[in-house]
Amino acid sequence: MEAYARPRVVVSKCLEFDACRYNGDVIYNDVVKKLMDYVDFVPVCPEVEIGLGTPRETIRIVKKEENYLLLQPSTKRDVTKEMTSFADTYLAGIRDTDGFILKTRSPSCGVKEVKVYASTEKGPAIGHTSGLFGGKVEALFSHLAVEEEGRLNNFTIRDRFYTKLFTLASFRRLLPLGLEAVKEFHKKNYYLLMAYSKPTLKVMNRVLKNVDENGEEETVELYQKALHKLFNRAARNDSNRRVAREIFKRFESKLSIREVAFFEELMQKYANKKEPFSSITTLLKSHAIRFEDNEILEQTFFAPYPEILLEISDSGKGRDY
Ligand code: SF4
Repeated sequence: MEAYARPRVVVSKCLEFDACRYNGDVIYNDVVKKLMDYVDFVPVCPEVEIGLGTPRETIRIVKKEENYLLLQPSTKRDVTKEMTSFADTYLAGIRDTDGFILKTRSPSCGVKEVKVYASTEKGPAIGHTSGLFGGKVEALFSHLAVEEEGRLNNFTIRDRFYTKLFTLASFRRLLPLGLEAVKEFHKKNYYLLMAYSKPTLKVMNRVLKNVDENGEEETVELYQKALHKLFNRAARNDSNRRVAREIFKRFESKLSIREVAFFEELMQKYANKKEPFSSITTLLKSHAIRFEDNEILEQTFFAPYPEILLEISDSGKGRDY
């Protein structure tokens, strides 16, 4: 089996795959491009799917009373029903999928921050909402890895997205293998799960313990539910530190005073955002190699997705690694 499962990701087709934007352009996107070697993409362009053609006149979201309509100002055409019906049918057919990458701010694909207008006439936006397709994706699949392409320029958001995406894909890959494979998954992902949510990890431990009571099938279902819940919350700087300390305890008594002090110094720098977390994980890994701690070396906590995707560059916003 390959080290990393290949996630299946639905992607807005104009991102790298097709010149299907309203003006006949394709959008070059480094994240999507880089992921192509590691992900099975399923491109879709909702506007082309409802027959708007390329190139086409732009569409926008207009708020009428409490309804959000998808209108084409130049033709006054209302394509709300077509888009809603396409989204419902398409999304009902989604199977074996781990995530979505959708075009930011599109009135169809955008997940949030899509401009809303008062009418089809020229005028400023009166607010923001989600695109008609993107909003349904968010409502139905928030347990999967769902992101907008613009947000993925941020290192922290991208890191969380990749972690969730590859972890869910690895769980999906082993599902047909049954409970023993789930137990193996739990073991290898133990510290990663702990970093995301200690209370949910406790629930998962309990679920696996109660297998005699619930039976294998229900145990796997309960475990999967807990896994989806776990990723609702992002791993935080302080929980990463807590997990690093937990791992460090395994080696502490065998280390010199200076080695222990060096670890504490790194932890302090990380807490003050002066050091990336990768400095700490590299140190922990080197201790695991030295003391031949294979249980630690196998932990996905150190590399939840292919290392080649790890680039510590971002849009400059919200960088809190
Ligand atoms: S944003 Fe969505 S609807 Fe618009 S061109 Fe891209 S894929 Fe098509």
